[in-house]
Amino acid sequence: MVVKPKIIAGPCSAETREQILNTASQLSSDKIDFFRAGIWKPRTRPGAFEGIGHEGLNWMTEVKEKFKLKICTEVASPEHVEAVLKKGFDMVWIGARSTANPFTVQEISEALKGVKIPVMIKNPTNPDLKLWIGALERMMNGGIEDLSAIHRGFSVYEKNLYRNNPNWQIALDLKKELPNIPLLCDPSHISGRRHLIHNISQKAMDLDYDGLMIETHCNPNQALTDKKQQLTPDELFELLSSLKLRSRKEFMDEQLRDFRMNLSEIDSDIIALLKKRMDISEQIGSYKKELNMVIFQKSIWEKAFKENVQNALDVELSEEFASQLFKLIHQESIVKQSKIFLKPDEED
Ligand code: PEP
Ligand code: MN
Repeated sequence: MVVKPKIIAGPCSAETREQILNTASQLSSDKIDFFRAGIWKPRTRPGAFEGIGHEGLNWMTEVKEKFKLKICTEVASPEHVEAVLKKGFDMVWIGARSTANPFTVQEISEALKGVKIPVMIKNPTNPDLKLWIGALERMMNGGIEDLSAIHRGFSVYEKNLYRNNPNWQIALDLKKELPNIPLLCDPSHISGRRHLIHNISQKAMDLDYDGLMIETHCNPNQALTDKKQQLTPDELFELLSSLKLRSRKEFMDEQLRDFRMNLSEIDSDIIALLKKRMDISEQIGSYKKELNMVIFQKSIWEKAFKENVQNALDVELSEEFASQLFKLIHQESIVKQSKIFLKPDEED
């Protein structure tokens, strides 16, 4: 069964009435579920465009009336919540910077008490799954029933391919912990650059996400915020029609069953090999203790580590995977050897 993803599109910020109405008129179609625009913009440093404020709320209600599009925006305070509820917004979301602050999330949750519209929570700027779950829990405790999560990536200090590192594993872990909360992807804020948006969106579909929020502007190059990552409505429609939607059916034919059996045999072999390796580590630990040697010998570890990563690279395993794997194995060996060192001597 292929499920059509929920699509939220619209500009990063509401800038002028013309820009909002022009973008909305081009987006108006049954392919779009919600029209977005930021009214209050959380800017990293002062001095940049901080959103049009209350005036923009009226442009959004015009969109709702003229184009029959549902409208949504970011709220960052109880005052924002009050203002958008008065104007009949159909959905709100909490931005990444607010999610990182439990005080703010709590205040917004209280302002939303008893409100029936859907609420979406972006991941916090820092890669902290508990903080993201905490924000969702604060909303659930406030009685919000229609809750979703938006994965928009995590801040990085060093220059990177992406503006915000996706860390897909965190989003997948959220799905595991809260399987009933729909998960959407915001490829615009992950990528920061429009040519990367398609691949990230496709990956989200391949990973069974429930929707996409994609920044779309009638004239991206003139945008007052996030100009490099916004698509035109035509580009958005092209992207949507080229997305491959995957089946959710739990499918199992003979071919797949064979593949899965092979995989599970290999997984058992990996466990058995790791056990064998740890047994030897423990023997080395006892021996080092007898000789009164330190557990960690940096140069020996570095040499072995380099060789292992190179061997992995030779068979086309990624450097990141190999280095994480061997660091984990090494950590576990150190834990095992430390236990032996801590045992009182007479028990050896
Ligand atoms: C936005 O959606 O325009 C926005 C500010 O997003 P985030 O909170 O993900 O940075
Ligand atoms: Mn933006």
